[in-house]
Amino acid sequence: NYILFTFVSLLWRFEVRSVHTIYRSRVWNNLLVYAMAIRGDWFYEESESWPGQAFGIRIKKILYEGKTMFQEVLVFESTDYGNVLVLDGVVQATERDEFAYQEMITHLAMMSHQNPQKVLVVGGGDGGCVREVLKHKSVQRVDLVEIDRTVIDLSLKYLPEMSKYLNGYESEDQESKNDPRVHVHICDGFKYLAEHTDQYDIIISDTSDPDGPAEQLFGKNYFQLLNQALTSQGVIAMQASENIWLRLDILKSLQETCSEVFPVVNYASTCVPTYTSGQLGLLLCAKDKNTNLKQPQKSWEDVKLNNASNKYYNEKIHASSFVLPTFVKRFISN
Ligand code: SAM
Repeated sequence: NYILFTFVSLLWRFEVRSVHTIYRSRVWNNLLVYAMAIRGDWFYEESESWPGQAFGIRIKKILYEGKTMFQEVLVFESTDYGNVLVLDGVVQATERDEFAYQEMITHLAMMSHQNPQKVLVVGGGDGGCVREVLKHKSVQRVDLVEIDRTVIDLSLKYLPEMSKYLNGYESEDQESKNDPRVHVHICDGFKYLAEHTDQYDIIISDTSDPDGPAEQLFGKNYFQLLNQALTSQGVIAMQASENIWLRLDILKSLQETCSEVFPVVNYASTCVPTYTSGQLGLLLCAKDKNTNLKQPQKSWEDVKLNNASNKYYNEKIHASSFVLPTFVKRFISN
């Protein structure tokens, strides 16, 4: 029954005209898609990391599906969330709610530093964090280090509002056509950091979850490299992978590991409907023990370039994002 169901679904989904066509051009990708839990016209984000739950997004049209050297990639147009980027079966961004993530991971760090001039984004091939960093007039240079060129290329095609400042990158260390402050490097973030010390005022670790190419970007060695790459007042922001509704023990141990390297480590939350459980955790770390990450250190009016504005971040939400529910306080100290 399962084989019959799979076969009929494949025929239906891709409107293929012959078994020969399926076999020749689609069979591998179709198998991938099944691994990524598409049923009918719904995508379900299923994983053993969050047992017993799966957020579903309705598909209007599949735009791209394939496998790169690093990960499985799916891009689809959804009925209600705009275009959606999925890596290894996990939603990375949707056009409708991406700003809640990009603005918070970026501005919590940028607003905690008096004068961020040089910024590194590790991962972030969709370009959303770079877009946010560029809103700050103090910024002179942003380096984006993404391991997988395909993510950038697909984002330029299907997520134009997020990736617009990556436009024009062609080879390594190329300036963006839309903003010469942006430099794109196709490289493993771990390797890049090992070669750069004492350079960045802010580092944003905008990586995928630790199950794929980002595996080593959640360990102590990586945090040490981040610390070394920062200037003396430097701040990092990283997506914490776990949220408060799932493995609080993992979150606790991640915070403890960060605290072995950084003197200040705080956990902040943002609300993103298409991320697992709707809440996403961010870890903010500072190199100087006197840094206050929990309050903005300046006003948006003073830092914004031209008329740059936000849809989610504001100075009050900065402070409130560090406030923890009672059941979480047993595990995480802020
Ligand atoms: N907001 C996102 C989320 O849902 O967690 C992250 C978005 S961004 C698309 C994550 C990027 O990190 C991916 O494009 C992936 O290729 C990149 N990445 C993963 N491992 C990396 C590594 N070791 N070095 C550089 N980039 C990496």
